[in-house]
Amino acid sequence: MKEEGRDVDENGRKFDPLFCKTCKLVFTLKRSDHNDSEMHRRITNFLQPTCKLCSEVFFSPMAYEKHLDSQKHLEVSKIIVEKKIPLWLLLVAFFLD
Ligand SMILES: [Zn+2]
Ligand SMILES: [Zn+2]
Repeated sequence: MKEEGRDVDENGRKFDPLFCKTCKLVFTLKRSDHNDSEMHRRITNFLQPTCKLCSEVFFSPMAYEKHLDSQKHLEVSKIIVEKKIPLWLLLVAFFLD
């Protein structure tokens, strides 16, 4: 019978699989490698979306959806769309003000 919850790498070493709470799965990479992986990034981005316009991080897709309809977000996106100014310029202007 296969030993439960254990795995062996290509060198035959046994190691404990790690569990990622974000992805809800067990992985056998180093934690830092897993955190850098495309899949982990995508899941993090889905579960904790970031509004690139407002540079805000949300803790659920629903909070993000709500933010998209918020006055604050609409104002920021209006400024950017209407004046067609790049975001970096807006940030520079914000910090210089
Ligand atoms: Zn993960
Ligand atoms: Zn926003």
